[in-house]
Amino acid sequence: MKRGERIDEFIDGIDHSNKELAMGALHDAKYCVKKANNIFFERYNYLFDRMPFTEEQKNTFHRTIIDSYMDMAEVSRSVGKSVNSCLVYYYGEFRKKDEFRTFLRQMNDNYELCVVCGKGGELICCDGCNRPYHLECVKPPLIRVPEGDWFCALCINDTRRIKEKPSLI
Ligand SMILES: [Zn+2]
Ligand SMILES: [Zn+2]
Repeated sequence: MKRGERIDEFIDGIDHSNKELAMGALHDAKYCVKKANNIFFERYNYLFDRMPFTEEQKNTFHRTIIDSYMDMAEVSRSVGKSVNSCLVYYYGEFRKKDEFRTFLRQMNDNYELCVVCGKGGELICCDGCNRPYHLECVKPPLIRVPEGDWFCALCINDTRRIKEKPSLI
């Protein structure tokens, strides 16, 4: 295949609204189609990630932030946006919404109930995901409140949570 044909093919394969982005990528890649393709997708993903949340993404965000006990890594995976974009939405938009009050109330209710047995009482909170547990519901059960940070089995299995956890409220 000739060089010119591959460039045409690359440009033809991009939908109309993104042709300018594709041309820019092609230029910056010095007309190497393979490189242009990589640059294009990198920039496309970057722009896509920064686009405002759709209604559906907002709904997923509202639902997941409660269900996951404010685990931003999990929210990010469900919404399909980077953790950074989720934080931007959280601070820039979500906190100003009426839903935020409902969210805080629901979170407070959630935090009063153990995630294992669903009952209230004296609970400890995981330092990775914030989920509340009874000492006796943890496996193996704890005899006393641990000194320093304590991580639940979910967090120990997913060590990323421990490192990524942003402090929110
Ligand atoms: Zn319990
Ligand atoms: Zn945890």
